[in-house]
Amino acid sequence: PSLDDFPPVAVGHRVVHGGARFFEPTLITNLVEINIDELSVLAPLHNPGALQGVRAAKAAFPDLAHVAVFDTAFHQTLPPAAYTYAIDKDLAEAHRIRRYGFHGTSHKYVSRAAADFLGRPLEELKQIVFHLGNGASVAAVDGGRSVETSMGLTPLEGLVMGTRSGDIDPAVLFHLARRARMSIDDLDDLLNKRSGVLGLAGVNDMRDLEERVAAGDEDARLAMDVYIHRLRAYAGSYIAQLGGVDVIVFTAGVGENSPIVRAGALETLGFAGVQLDPARNEERARGIRVISADGSPVTVLVVPTNEELEIARQALEVAAAL
Ligand code: AMP
Repeated sequence: PSLDDFPPVAVGHRVVHGGARFFEPTLITNLVEINIDELSVLAPLHNPGALQGVRAAKAAFPDLAHVAVFDTAFHQTLPPAAYTYAIDKDLAEAHRIRRYGFHGTSHKYVSRAAADFLGRPLEELKQIVFHLGNGASVAAVDGGRSVETSMGLTPLEGLVMGTRSGDIDPAVLFHLARRARMSIDDLDDLLNKRSGVLGLAGVNDMRDLEERVAAGDEDARLAMDVYIHRLRAYAGSYIAQLGGVDVIVFTAGVGENSPIVRAGALETLGFAGVQLDPARNEERARGIRVISADGSPVTVLVVPTNEELEIARQALEVAAAL
């Protein structure tokens, strides 16, 4: 089949930051373009590029509906207690400083796919979704709504990632600025590009890290331990925030492919009713699958994410309603 047989009806655009303004897929009018541009203040590395893509695609397909699907949108249901940072209220408001969360398109797709696969109503499930790729975040999804997530104002907060530190005492930055004379740009580069697994072990790919752990590399062992320690801390926190959990889902490059990481993350959660089936967890497979033991009160799933499909669906929904 070629595109001529199935002429496109809409173009879906992934846009990282929708701020507090965009909470659903949105037809990209000129005004929306201006808003996306203006939100570049919050996502200087991402929104300008997305906008270039929008303009190029609009030039190539001027007659189609162009729809922005925001990575932050799914997390707009976070309650104020979850998205508010405990800093000066007026300053935060003036600069729109709050937690927004990212990977929303993936968290949304995966949590729905999990419910569909289990044949259970999404509205009745408490889920914890680990999106573990090069960037990584976890979300607590209650009845299909995101109520807590680990990324914040930017994708730097939360879990240990390939090259990002995730959570860190902000005073480390004051200390480095004063003692090591590092500039704001140096610190940005350090935490976003030279930290995480890369900073600790010298490699950022989980496959390389696993190889080095197996070969007895001590830096790699510590990096893996720190990575897993953080996953456990978040799992415990989110079980407490949700008041229990029915389903735990792993997705993205590491989540879909690393039995070591999945087993490590869940190892101490037996008390909460999480029983992994080691053989199922080890199995190399591609599709959506259960990796918990039969009879485990909490069901653990691997769900391959598909952000492109989710963006296409949402774009089509908007285009069909025009
Ligand atoms: P993503 O950002 O979702 O594309 O995920 C990319 C990450 O997935 C890379 O850092 C890889 O380390 C990791 N990954 C891909 N395949 C595997 C695998 N077979 N085992 C462990 N990690 C993997």
